[in-house]
Amino acid sequence: MRVLSGVQPSGSLHIGNYFGAIRQFVALQDEHECYYFLADLHALTTIKDADWMRALVRELAAGYLALGLDPERSVIYRQSDIPEVPELSWYLSTVTSMGLLQRCHSFKDKVARGVLPNHGLFAYPVLMAADILIVRSDLVPVGKDQKQHLEVTRDVVASFHATYGKEVFTLPAPLIQDDVAVVPGIDGEKMSKSYGNTIDIFGPEKPIRKRIMSLVTDSTPVEDPKPKQGSALYRLLKIFAPVEEQSWVESAFSEGGIGYGDMKKRLFEYFLATFGDARTRYDELMADPAEVDRILLAGAQRARETVAPLMDDFRKAVGIR
Ligand code: ATP
Ligand code: MG
Repeated sequence: MRVLSGVQPSGSLHIGNYFGAIRQFVALQDEHECYYFLADLHALTTIKDADWMRALVRELAAGYLALGLDPERSVIYRQSDIPEVPELSWYLSTVTSMGLLQRCHSFKDKVARGVLPNHGLFAYPVLMAADILIVRSDLVPVGKDQKQHLEVTRDVVASFHATYGKEVFTLPAPLIQDDVAVVPGIDGEKMSKSYGNTIDIFGPEKPIRKRIMSLVTDSTPVEDPKPKQGSALYRLLKIFAPVEEQSWVESAFSEGGIGYGDMKKRLFEYFLATFGDARTRYDELMADPAEVDRILLAGAQRARETVAPLMDDFRKAVGIR
């Protein structure tokens, strides 16, 4: 099977990106032919500072590698290094109805959160369809927020095939890990780079600890049992706790006697145990930007080799060639 997915360099990598997506990326490398890209063209919809953009791309590349994406087993590349992607996106946009995009929750949610509703943000699902279809991927590991965009991709495929009477694309399926489909942010909403509610994976320890300590909780007194329903702290503890500590989490909430502050300290310990090694590797990679650039360049070459012959089919289907 061919697997494809990506993350936007629209902010620092957070634990939602890891549990919702990147952990699956790593696991799939053993069994499948994997393409993992840095969605820099997508990130332009929200990042409007060139130096910041360059820095975020470098951070994301180092993050991918530090978390276990392996350039020997996977094709790791920048979206903008494949100019055929925006070309295909244009072909697809001419068979995508406005209504299909107007129904997308992600666009509406971002605008409601104060992100500027530019055309790129609106058309994002079409560019995403191009990302997926251009290598004929079968499987797309994503968080639940991307489920609807996968449905859009499938609708666009149907519309393209109906329009041109030729089956040139593979129908991709989402791969969503149910228990971590939506990792909550410190405010209890979906954790998102653009929502300012993240717990970052990399960077100095102190601000991360501070973020965890500022997780929103209710005012249940220390001695009382704590509600699990709707508690972001409970969800995060369950996601992070190793098997042998799961029952500690359960009893901390149901029996009372342990305050939220102590639970947050425990969460921070789990965080360090989970990401300690990756954080060390990340610092090493950030100190060697030439190596990271080399990996991205090699990945782009491999991706373009896959894309070139397929792109020929797509161009012929629309009559551009
Ligand atoms: P932005 O706010 O700019 O959209 P983001 O934090 O949503 O950023 P993306 O780059 O859009 O991150 O998404 C990368 C991957 O991480 C996608 O597969 C997405 O579904 C997944 N993901 C993002 N946030 C979460 C979350 N809170 N829980 C589970 N998966 C998530
Ligand atoms: Mg997102």
